[in-house]
Amino acid sequence: MSENFIPVNAPLLDGNEKKYLQECINTGWISSQGPFVKRFEEDVASYVGRGFATACSSGTAALDIAVSALKLKNGDEVIMPSFTIISCAQALVKQGVKPVLVDSDLQTFNMKVEDIEAKITPKTKAIMIVHIFGLTVDVDPIIDLAKKYDLKIIEDAAQMLGQEYKGRKCGSFGDISVFSFYPNKQVTTGEGGMVLCDDKELDKRAKGLRNLCFTQDRFVHEELGYNYRMTNLQAALGVAGLEKIEKIVEKKRWIGKLYNGLLKDIEVINLPLEKTDYCENIYWVYAITLKDKYKKTAKEVMQELSNHKIGTRPFFYPMHKQPVFNKMGLFVDESLPNSEKLYEKGFYIPSGLALSEEEIHKVSEVLHKVL
Ligand SMILES: *Cc1c(COP(=O)(O)O)cnc(C)c1O
Repeated sequence: MSENFIPVNAPLLDGNEKKYLQECINTGWISSQGPFVKRFEEDVASYVGRGFATACSSGTAALDIAVSALKLKNGDEVIMPSFTIISCAQALVKQGVKPVLVDSDLQTFNMKVEDIEAKITPKTKAIMIVHIFGLTVDVDPIIDLAKKYDLKIIEDAAQMLGQEYKGRKCGSFGDISVFSFYPNKQVTTGEGGMVLCDDKELDKRAKGLRNLCFTQDRFVHEELGYNYRMTNLQAALGVAGLEKIEKIVEKKRWIGKLYNGLLKDIEVINLPLEKTDYCENIYWVYAITLKDKYKKTAKEVMQELSNHKIGTRPFFYPMHKQPVFNKMGLFVDESLPNSEKLYEKGFYIPSGLALSEEEIHKVSEVLHKVL
């Protein structure tokens, strides 16, 4: 990456990261057996208010574990948004579970809760909620539906550590909930994830699945699992990161609000909502959509921004349009217009924790020039 390029994300490792990593090396504890793993699990569980936590190798791994642990099986259906990362859908598809997709709201980017009930069938076993970009899903009506139809909730809170819905922490709403600790997430372990729940049996299954479903009789297996363990080195970064969570959330909101002020006079774009009735934006990423009247696509604008040394990322490509799923006969000819439009019109701009005020001003200047 050339000098002066402002990347879409740069992590900030300015706490006890080095000290804790040094401790791993000094003690020789570098594998998943080291003490930081348990400590990180306890810290996150207690921060979010959950009974049990299982640290694992990625958010994608956490979703695999969540779906397996709930014992969803061939022929079951799970309702989820089309506008999300493939990790959510593939966790289901790989286990023969059918994702049933709902469209998303153009302003909040989250699944249209009002569209869920019509998609419930006798085969529906769960609703997968995914909080997108900074605003939470409207969770309460989904909890009501889950109660009414006896469905599980899988919560993907990968982007939402530190965010709250009506004052309750994200990661606390699923029968099973997951986080990711990829470097663009609030807390990072380089690669990493976590599964949270309150049910002892479910937790036991999650921990088994993480570690090849070993039994008391080592090397005798009753079920198939994964090696999705997190290392002590990764957990050391996680513990250091979580210690700074309040500051991290504050910085995210500071970046978002600074952009809001600087970009509000650009006529051809929609800025992210500052808040909804139930949450205040945490600006996991600063997500922009181009207005209908503007002729260029997000792709063209992102290229121009890149020419000006500003990093961006496109929005998610909807699940129902994914060639890999269409080739399997899934979602063929399905139409979910909002999620398609979001992909065409949306992109996000630098919003990582290491971003400086000067860089934010530079991004704003270039956006004014290009748009
Ligand atoms: C980042 C992310 C994931 C995947 O996490 P990885 O750690 O990259 O595997 C899953 N879901 C959502 C919503 C994400 O943003």
